[in-house]
Amino acid sequence: MAIDVSNTTTGAELDGKVPTGDLETLWQRHQFDMKLVNPNNKRRFEIIVVGTGLAGASAAATMGELGYNVKVFTFHDSPRRAHSIAAQGGINAAKNYQNDGDSIYRLFHDTVKGGDYCSREANVYRLAEVSLEIIDQAVAQGVPFAREYGGLLANRSFGGAQVSRTFYARGQTGQQLLLGAYQALARQIDAGKVTLHNRTELLDLVVVDGRTVGVIVRDLLTGDITSHSAHAVVLATGGYSNAFYLSTNAMKCNATAIWRAHRKGAYFANPCFTQIHPTAIPASEEFQSKLTLMSESLRNDGRIWVPADADDDRAPSDIPGDERYYYLEDRYPAFGNLVPRDVASRNAKERVDAGYGVGPRNNGVYLDFADAIERLGVEAITEKYRNLFEMYERITGEDPYTVPMRIYPAPHYTMGGLWVDYHLMSNLPGLFVIGEANFSDHGANRLGASALMQGLADGYFVLPYTIGNYLAPLLGESPVDTDHDAFKQAEKDVRSRIDQLLSVGGTRSVDWFHRELGKILWDYCGMSRSRESLEKALSEIPALREEFQNDVRVLGDDASLNESLEKVGRVSDFFELAELMCVDALDRNESCGAHFREEYQTEDGEARRDDEHYRYVAAWESNGVEEAPTLHKEQLEYEHVELVQRSYK
Ligand SMILES: Cc1cc2nc3c(=O)[nH]c(=O)nc-3n(C[C@H](O)[C@H](O)[C@H](O)COP(=O)(O)OP(=O)(O)OC[C@H]3O[C@@H](n4cnc5c(N)ncnc54)[C@H](O)[C@@H]3O)c2cc1C
Repeated sequence: MAIDVSNTTTGAELDGKVPTGDLETLWQRHQFDMKLVNPNNKRRFEIIVVGTGLAGASAAATMGELGYNVKVFTFHDSPRRAHSIAAQGGINAAKNYQNDGDSIYRLFHDTVKGGDYCSREANVYRLAEVSLEIIDQAVAQGVPFAREYGGLLANRSFGGAQVSRTFYARGQTGQQLLLGAYQALARQIDAGKVTLHNRTELLDLVVVDGRTVGVIVRDLLTGDITSHSAHAVVLATGGYSNAFYLSTNAMKCNATAIWRAHRKGAYFANPCFTQIHPTAIPASEEFQSKLTLMSESLRNDGRIWVPADADDDRAPSDIPGDERYYYLEDRYPAFGNLVPRDVASRNAKERVDAGYGVGPRNNGVYLDFADAIERLGVEAITEKYRNLFEMYERITGEDPYTVPMRIYPAPHYTMGGLWVDYHLMSNLPGLFVIGEANFSDHGANRLGASALMQGLADGYFVLPYTIGNYLAPLLGESPVDTDHDAFKQAEKDVRSRIDQLLSVGGTRSVDWFHRELGKILWDYCGMSRSRESLEKALSEIPALREEFQNDVRVLGDDASLNESLEKVGRVSDFFELAELMCVDALDRNESCGAHFREEYQTEDGEARRDDEHYRYVAAWESNGVEEAPTLHKEQLEYEHVELVQRSYK
């Protein structure tokens, strides 16, 4: 049954619990004001962390080091397989090593502006402040950041900034940072402060008297379902771009942890804020299951263009300069190819939709390194981008040193996620959410190289303080016993859900349904949306969901490794989340950042915000699958940044 959107109700306003006072010293003073757990008492507390990407691994390692007892869960075989490993381009920090005018304030300002003025000022300022410490921490761990001739760490530029503040380790920044966080985690596992449960998937959250008290997990090898209780639960389970089926995310990324928490009462904020990254390799065929990112760092040196004449089918090298259209350089002279992702993606779509697409399927634009190679030499380009160029050649069979890359936008990052306050705690006391899984700091559009920064800020430097403030008053209280009825009931619910999914015995594979769902989302709630397209999605998704419930085929059983069973649960959650994404997009009658509603654009096709009516975080409360959700608004106040129409011209 379709949700009746006209039944959406508005609930109580939300308080982000941002402390008052001077922005520059807010976080420092608040660290002093928060309650502390003394070092000897930390071992009396149990904390569950779900996820071992940069956010989860850094949080678990730091809390273990502080003395808490930490249990970590990941569905991967090793923490090092978390999707964070895929991050290529870099991590931002306001070190100003280049002496080019960077500062904490500038990083703060760029991030608020980049997010189209949809994020909390205090959170973003804290993020910019803490960015300095992240680099020091990573360097101390031995993360091999690229260095200049003189030994200082090197920087490159990313979109939405006019300074170079992105630290990188060739095209493997995420991997190197994750190795750093992982070794810190491994040290705590060895010390007995952290217990690792790999190949274990969270399938439900347990809430007693409104407080989060534990989780229900399934061992992916044996199918065993067990309960685990703690004083606090931290979700660091990543983003939900795979709702679109085709995305740049690892294929196992999913929304189950945050979605199940949502169904247990956690509010889901800004679900429609999904980032479409401009530089993925275009799809080469209908049945592809994954899209590959070409890092945004390539826009430092690559120039984006399409033929000036839509019918020009010559090889790119045969098209002279004056017959090419370098549309970003022309339309946005101040930022050129380094405009933020939402702007670059929309412009690529506009060119391709207008018939200027290149490649065998006319579904890409060129990213050309010829000028940079001529200016800097092939060695310099190889030094910066070797693994990205190799990856591109392996996938497309074309050599990007001699033929321009072909790129097209793809779902990549989700700014939406569970709502959290300034302490990174959800509306459910005891449930903290960090990294990409929360809605936090990026507003309606994340700037490049800022997800790693946020995940590590949350894990190394914010949560370890704020969780103490929550735990301190609980001293002396034991975690709720797993014999409690709430655990028993949650285990029972998880089992019956699995039995039900296994018993459908339909005719279509899980992947078939996922692909169809992805098409609906991409076509009607993707790079641009309209009332009409969203209403269409909201009628098609429930119909497809019903078919899924009656006709999906899950092979194998519940007592051994069964990827089909893992997937079906995740896709089932994507169905429900997809509807909420459309409900949210329909509710927001404005364009902002990556949320581009066709009805709301400026004369030159840019996003037109409506600050009077929509300057809020939309946090949705679940009322069950068939009922319209309740909207809770957190009003956003801007005291330090002036709300203006974003311009990168
Ligand atoms: C190709 C690519 C390149 C990128 N490059 C950059 C970049 O250069 N710079 C940048 O800043 N950002 C980049 N990003 C974004 C960035 O990598 C991610 O936002 C970030 O790494 C997310 O980290 P995380 O710790 O929040 O989640 P993840 O790294 O996704 O980790 C999630 C963890 O949760 C676990 N998990 C999830 N659900 C469950 C469950 N139900 N039960 C048990 N465990 C669960 C997983 O096993 C995993 O351990 C890139 C993203 C992509 C896709």
